[in-house]
Amino acid sequence: MSKIVVLMGAPGAGKGTQARLLQERTGLPQISTGDIFRELAKADTPLAREVREVQAAGKLVSDDLVIRVVQERTNREDCRRGYVLDGFPRTTAQAEMLERLAATQGHTLGALLVDVPFEILEKRLTGRRSCPVCGEIYNVYFKPPARDEVCDLHPDARLSRRTDDNAETIKARLATYERDTRPLLDYYEQTGRLVRVDGTRDAEAIYADIEKAVTGG
Ligand SMILES: [Zn+2]
Repeated sequence: MSKIVVLMGAPGAGKGTQARLLQERTGLPQISTGDIFRELAKADTPLAREVREVQAAGKLVSDDLVIRVVQERTNREDCRRGYVLDGFPRTTAQAEMLERLAATQGHTLGALLVDVPFEILEKRLTGRRSCPVCGEIYNVYFKPPARDEVCDLHPDARLSRRTDDNAETIKARLATYERDTRPLLDYYEQTGRLVRVDGTRDAEAIYADIEKAVTGG
């Protein structure tokens, strides 16, 4: 059984954690387009040169080029048993190309959504605080410090938030994600291959469902 898993989830849904667990425990490599492009930037192959030319010209990398980049990476030996895609496909056109790639490589294909309601994502992201001394992560809604805005272990250290963690920026990010991802979710739903996993639980409970979906079908 070899399978391509398209892993989906909004910012703050915990998708990265799940991709890492899948890689550690099933051995399916996590293939992220961000990583591939960073690797290509340093490579000297015909494909790498082609990508650099497009980028140097300030043009958008076309769907056709992206799929060839994904194909070249996933034709390697480590992907023979299947792989987990993170950040690809982004559009239904890319999803259709991925169908053909899966057929060529002899893999089945399934999509997994780590599903978290908008209100919870918003609280996860806007409530996040960290201690500037020890790096401990808090959340004012879900894991508050004993005293407001100070670390439990470092009472003199005021907790800090990331500069992009303000409510307006986060709302905009989530809205963009929702808008861009909706067609893709519909695509996988309509083709009967979308498995929704309740992402409001702890990471291990989420993972148990994900592993069942990946290894069971
Ligand atoms: Zn601390």
